[in-house]
Amino acid sequence: RSKSPDDPSAPAAKRHAGDVGRVIEHYNLRPEVGVKQRLRSPIIGLKNFNNWVKSVLITRFAHPVLASSAVKSTDGLSGGCGKVLDMGCGKGGDLVKWEKARIRELIDIAHVSIEQARDRWKNMHPPRFTASFAALDCYRESLSKAFPPEKLAQPFDVVSMQFCMHYAFETAEKARCMLQNISRWLRRGGVFLGTIPNADYLLERLDSLPPSATDLSFGNSVYKIRFEDRRSRPLFGHRYYFWLQDAVDDVPEYIVRWDKFIELAAEYALYPIYREEFHQIFVQHRNQEEFKSLMLRMKVVDANGESAMDEAQWEAANIYIGFVFEKR
Ligand code: SAM
Repeated sequence: RSKSPDDPSAPAAKRHAGDVGRVIEHYNLRPEVGVKQRLRSPIIGLKNFNNWVKSVLITRFAHPVLASSAVKSTDGLSGGCGKVLDMGCGKGGDLVKWEKARIRELIDIAHVSIEQARDRWKNMHPPRFTASFAALDCYRESLSKAFPPEKLAQPFDVVSMQFCMHYAFETAEKARCMLQNISRWLRRGGVFLGTIPNADYLLERLDSLPPSATDLSFGNSVYKIRFEDRRSRPLFGHRYYFWLQDAVDDVPEYIVRWDKFIELAAEYALYPIYREEFHQIFVQHRNQEEFKSLMLRMKVVDANGESAMDEAQWEAANIYIGFVFEKR
């Protein structure tokens, strides 16, 4: 007998019909590849660059906040201090980037990804930090449903949402639920940082398509973005489909209008302190010694300073912006 989509034991993708079901299915089905296979990805340069951008944001904006955290180590493990919530963590690819955080809570709607994230943490030797993992639709349900009160008693110093917040902009209710989940358990002076597609760039590209075009898509050999309508531009639920080679297969995503985002965030005491396109983040940090050497270690450039990205990957990199908000 097939399970009703409302049956809590039904697979998450079935319980969530429509776009969100497609998002969950897509991420649940993406195989976890080993390091060797990852290195063979045709867009490895772009993946490394995206990871470098995340590391820059974390180092520059999260480390100072973690350093001033009230969280102290009580379990005898070595490492830094502070508490981080990684919302939409996927397979836990950022686990190691949070070296300065003692406690990490990771959450994602895709239960298979969460299991893979947990395995990744278990396989880290020795574990220098505590971490807990939960599968939850953070855009429809409260965090308190996933974590017991004692886990949430100490507020977070940092909330991170990498390449995932745009899925919340399907409706105003989802965007509000997401912001409530961030703000409710983030301490004053704490930061919320993330990466999202650059709505201005996407809409500019849409506007520059010939008026007679019926195929409302643009991109290159690495990425493709397809809109369904040229004129209709709702503030929420402005959908397009995204394809990224070796990563995302025509998944529905939503435009995040920056002005709307900051207006809404202010209602949750979150105020922007940084917003930059990825190309600009590169320009701002490439000559700073710490980030320059990180670029080499993360194989964004080779020993001769040559970029690991071709033109198409470099163009795809600038679909995104990085942002940081502070809770006041
Ligand atoms: N943050 C990770 C990273 O940077 O590699 C994963 C990014 S992946 C592009 C987007 C993630 O958002 C997926 O793992 C997906 O399952 C998650 N996601 C989408 N909608 C979500 C929701 N409503 N609640 C929690 N996670 C969600």
